[in-house]
Amino acid sequence: MVQRFESYIAGRWVAGSDFAPDENPSDLDAPVGEYATVDAGHAREAVEAAHAAQPAWAAATPQQRADVLDRVGSEILARKEALGRLLALEEGKPLSESIGEAARAGQIFKFFAGEALRIPGERLASVRPGVDIEITREPVGVVGVIAPWNFPLAIPAWKIAPALAYGNSVVFKPAEGVPGCAWALAEILSRAGLPAGVFNLVIGGGRSVGNALLTAPRLDALSFTGSVATGGQLLRTAAGRGLKIQMEMGGKNALVVMADADLELAVRCAIDGAYFSTGQRCTASSRLIVEAPVYERFVERMTQSLAELTVGPAVAEGTDIGPVANRSQFEQDLAYLEVGRSEGAELLWGGRPLDPGVRGYYLQPALLAAQPGHRVAMEEIFGPVACVMLAEDYDHALQLANDTEFGLCSGICTTSLRHATHFKRHAQVGMVMVNLPTAGVDPHVAFGGRKSSSYGAREQGRYAVEFYTTVKTAYTAA
Ligand code: ADP
Repeated sequence: MVQRFESYIAGRWVAGSDFAPDENPSDLDAPVGEYATVDAGHAREAVEAAHAAQPAWAAATPQQRADVLDRVGSEILARKEALGRLLALEEGKPLSESIGEAARAGQIFKFFAGEALRIPGERLASVRPGVDIEITREPVGVVGVIAPWNFPLAIPAWKIAPALAYGNSVVFKPAEGVPGCAWALAEILSRAGLPAGVFNLVIGGGRSVGNALLTAPRLDALSFTGSVATGGQLLRTAAGRGLKIQMEMGGKNALVVMADADLELAVRCAIDGAYFSTGQRCTASSRLIVEAPVYERFVERMTQSLAELTVGPAVAEGTDIGPVANRSQFEQDLAYLEVGRSEGAELLWGGRPLDPGVRGYYLQPALLAAQPGHRVAMEEIFGPVACVMLAEDYDHALQLANDTEFGLCSGICTTSLRHATHFKRHAQVGMVMVNLPTAGVDPHVAFGGRKSSSYGAREQGRYAVEFYTTVKTAYTAA
C-alpha cells in the first residue's frame, strides 16, 4: 500500500485537495509514496489555529517546553536509521549522510530543549535614581517556516525547534519533493505533548501555500531558506506588510588552496565540499581558487579523486554521490554545463549523465577550469559542478574569493598562520573555514552569511534567540 503523507492543521491530519507522487530520484519507477497537497485556504486556517494556540504555549513553563522538545529530539535520535532512509529515498543523499542529518535534527531539538530553560534577560540600573530596568525576551507569535529540499530534516529542525523553545507557534511549509521527511517530523511532534495548533504542517506549492502563508494577516514572522530569486520576492512582500523576516539563500563559496597547503588535505576538502550531497548545499565549495605553483598538481589529484567516486542510488552500498534531487535541478545542472562550454570554460572532468541501470537523475561530478567573469564561476549552480580558478598569489586569491555577490562561506587550505589569520579577518562572509571544507557546520553556533546570501538575524545556536523573540525593556520606580 502506498503511504500518503498528509498535512497537520490545528491538531488534525488533513487529506488536502489534491495529491501527487513523492518521487525517488534514485529510482523514478519506485516512488516513495504520495503527498496530499493543501491549498491557500488551508494555509490561512493553519495560521489562525497557530494564532489561537500561541498564548497558552507562551504561558507554558520553560520546563514544559523543554520536555516537549527533548522528547522530540530523543525520538528522532532513536529512529535516525529509518528517518535517514526516508530522507535518502526522497532527496537522494547517500544513506550515511542521510542518517547523519537525521541525528543532527535530533541533536538540534535537544539543544533547544536546553535553551528553553535559558532564555536570556538583563537587569540594569537606570540613569535615574530609584528606577530599575529589566530587559526580557518574549515570543514573536506565529512563525512561518518555508524550507528547501536539500536538508529536509535538519533545516526544518533548526527553524522549528527554536521557534517552539521560545514560545512561538509554527506553520511549516516544506519544499515540494520532500513531503515524507516533513510528515515524519510532524508525526513525531504530534505525539510530543504540544497543544493542538501550536505546530502545523501545510504541504503544498510555493506560489499557492507559501504565498498564502506570507500574506496571512496573523503571521508574525517568517524564516525562509531557498533560492535568491524566491527570497527577493518574499522580501518585497514582507517589507510591504512589515513582517519580521529571516532568509538564507544562495552561495558561491570559495575554497582557496595555497601553494603551502597540505595538498592531499586540500583535495579531500575540495572533493567533500564541492561534491558530497551532490553539491546541493548552500555552503558547497563551488569555486576552487588555487595558487599558481600547485595548480597543475591540484587539478591532477582532483581528477584522480573524482574518478574514484561512485555515483549511484542513495541507499546502495558504496555510493559516494547520490542522484541530483529532482528533474528541474538536473536540467539546471546540465544547462549550466552547456553555459560553461559556450563561454569557454574547459571541462576537466565529468559532466555526463550516467545510467547505473536504474532510471534516476544521475550526473557525473564535473570540474571546470573557469575565468573570473564566467557565469559558471559567478552564479550558484547547486549541483555536482565546481570551477577551478588560478590565482597568482595570496592577495589575488583573496580578491577572487571576495569577488562575488554572495557571502555565505569561504575556506582556505594553508599551513601558514599568517595566511590563515589574514583570511579569517578579510573573507567577506558569515562563516570561514581553515583547512576544512566550506560545507559542514556545527549545529550549536551561528549560521548565516552576508551580501546576497542572507537577510536578517542569524540562525542556530544561541543566536537564534534574536529572530524568534522580541525584546521588551521594562522600567520600574521602586
Ligand atoms: P528551489 O529553486 O531550490 O526549489 P525555492 O526558493 O523555489 O528553491 O524554494 C524554496 C522554498 O520556497 C520551497 O518550500 C518553495 O515551495 C517555497 N516557495 C517558492 N516560491 C514561493 C513563493 N512565491 N512564495 C512562498 N514560498 C515559495
